[in-house]
Amino acid sequence: MDTITELLRGALEEVRSLGDGATASYIPELAQADPERLALSVVGPRGRVRSVGDEDAEFTIQSMSKPFVLALALVEHGRDAVFAKVGAEPSGEPFNAISLEADTGRPANPLINAGAIATTALIGGDDVDARTARIVELLSAFAGRSLWIDESVYASESSTGDRNRALAHLMRSYGVIDVSVDLAVETYFRQCSALVTVRDLAVMASTLAFGGWNPVTGERVVGESVARDVLSIMASCGMYDYSGQWMLRVGLPAKSGVSGGIIAVAPSQFGVAAFSPRLDEHGNSVRAVAIVEQLSERLGMHLLEPHESLAAPAVSVEGTAEGPTIRLSGELGFAGTERVMLVLRELASGMPEGATLTLDARELARTHPAALAVLEGEFEGLPLGLRLQT
Ligand code: GLN
Repeated sequence: MDTITELLRGALEEVRSLGDGATASYIPELAQADPERLALSVVGPRGRVRSVGDEDAEFTIQSMSKPFVLALALVEHGRDAVFAKVGAEPSGEPFNAISLEADTGRPANPLINAGAIATTALIGGDDVDARTARIVELLSAFAGRSLWIDESVYASESSTGDRNRALAHLMRSYGVIDVSVDLAVETYFRQCSALVTVRDLAVMASTLAFGGWNPVTGERVVGESVARDVLSIMASCGMYDYSGQWMLRVGLPAKSGVSGGIIAVAPSQFGVAAFSPRLDEHGNSVRAVAIVEQLSERLGMHLLEPHESLAAPAVSVEGTAEGPTIRLSGELGFAGTERVMLVLRELASGMPEGATLTLDARELARTHPAALAVLEGEFEGLPLGLRLQT
């Protein structure tokens, strides 16, 4: 076992003894889940999947489908059309609350049930099957394998889903939902009943972490701006009325589901998923919350922690036949230009007027156009010739 896997196993064992909480009971099939199950999976930038615990246990995706269906709605309709129907504000209320704007009936955000039903209603297709097929296809692309619906959980949720139906009726009365209530909620119940493992969820989370590119399959699933929009909403609304505390303690965009799973995303670093069916009063898994809290703390994953690499890009200077060359690698962000400019001025002060300096930006994995423009501007003020290699 490699060191990282060992670390994950240690994290898992530390939360195993937490016995609080109970499996979701309002969906009868979910109440049957084995409450002792516990699993954790992490996927890094090279697409390596590391899983520990009950990694092969299948469970339904539930609300963790919501960010991905939001991604699909954004792909199909664009940001403005989607957020005309559903808000982007944390509700501070439980997942099944009637958080609708007083005058418009618009749900607070796409990750509470009302908002998710409104988002699902936007997905194209003639009937429930066609719409579900589209959703399952996208969920599968995120997971890197074909996913299936658990028919018994679907039937169980559909036969007890009166509250979600009521939400849909209300939204339809306001014109937030244009399609029939049945079409909207049955598609939503089916999407919630897609079967996943903790591994699938970690791959899905990692695809969001890497800007919509699945590091396991190498497939681009959605564009960077869609992934960023989804993560933004997850950061403020993903954990329902625990979202603020979660940001404080964990600092990662995340989404939980009543089956006991949680996905969390460390942008450009990891996709993480944890699973354990017993839930706390917010409907979030007790042990999954604890394990991700612990991991974030130990691995320094909080988003708002300072990150050196943006402020200090890798710069090296080399003498070549054409004169000195400044080579940049890694990521050049706006703040990083300060360091490059220091090197640039120092070099320039020792060079004769009219000499040529080369700036080699070919090894930059990511360049922010504004940063490069600042460097070019700086060059113009120097009595030197510039050769920019991009
Ligand atoms: N299918 C569940 C519901 O609509 C999803 C809720 C959740 O996972 N929080 O109630």
